[in-house]
Amino acid sequence: MKTIRSISTLRGILDSARKKGRTVGLVPTMGYFHEGHLSLMQSARRECDIVVVSLFVNPLQFGPKEDLKAYPKNLKRDAQMARKKNADILFVPEARDLYGPQYQTFVSVEELSKPLCGRSRPGHFRGVATVVAKLFNIVLPDKAYFGSKDFQQARIIQQMVKDLSYNIELRILPTRRETDGLAISSRNIYLTSKERASAAKIYGSLNSLKSKFRQGERRVGQLEDALLAELKRHFKAAAIDYAEIRDAETLLHKPKIGKKAVAAVAVRVGKARLIDNIILGE
Ligand code: AMP
Repeated sequence: MKTIRSISTLRGILDSARKKGRTVGLVPTMGYFHEGHLSLMQSARRECDIVVVSLFVNPLQFGPKEDLKAYPKNLKRDAQMARKKNADILFVPEARDLYGPQYQTFVSVEELSKPLCGRSRPGHFRGVATVVAKLFNIVLPDKAYFGSKDFQQARIIQQMVKDLSYNIELRILPTRRETDGLAISSRNIYLTSKERASAAKIYGSLNSLKSKFRQGERRVGQLEDALLAELKRHFKAAAIDYAEIRDAETLLHKPKIGKKAVAAVAVRVGKARLIDNIILGE
């Protein structure tokens, strides 16, 4: 596995691989790898000839009061882990190379970026869509791999690929969890052991919601009230950023669950803002 920082070096290598008919898979990440990232790399390894893992803590997607500076980093450990998963290239671009002086071009997936995390993190998804569009333009992957833990992000990238006519197959893979159900996240290291124990209640609450759905409840108001009540048993009301059920395709709020909905939650636990979701239906 090669670690590459330069955009032109990466392009050169990938151009010659493509000329030989090799397919390219891209796994975009912010590093500090865990089982979630590794599962994406593993699928890419199975499905593509060349696996490129990008590692870039994208300043554009962090708000001024967010954890850009504190975001966990360990390039050496990440490189070892990606190598173990047989990635071919770890692409670690510099912010100054991606966003030069006078940088002024942004991608905004308008409607899907408004609710849920978009409301409490203004500009976040514009930052995500912009960096992913740039990575797609640099790597020109045949397939790109994302986790459904970041459900809204995955929907936004799907929409961007469709709207901007990218010729890329998106692979959205299931959320990897700890044994108690907590969605694995690089930000889980911010948690104290007490906070870590209570964090598992997020998935627990989503599962209780699923039982109510399975018992036949389809009214979104009733289900959201139950979800919020359950979360409030474990977290302070002010810590709950949102707990909502929305159409899985449009992310619109509807009175009744149709074919497929997403129940999505964001909760502040200590220094971490944790998100999780489950699908209701299908
Ligand atoms: P990040 O480094 O947090 O930006 O995540 C990089 C990619 O890994 C994104 O597509 C995430 O959705 C995905 N990912 C993060 N956590 C998980 C997880 N627990 N299970 C599966 N995929 C994940």
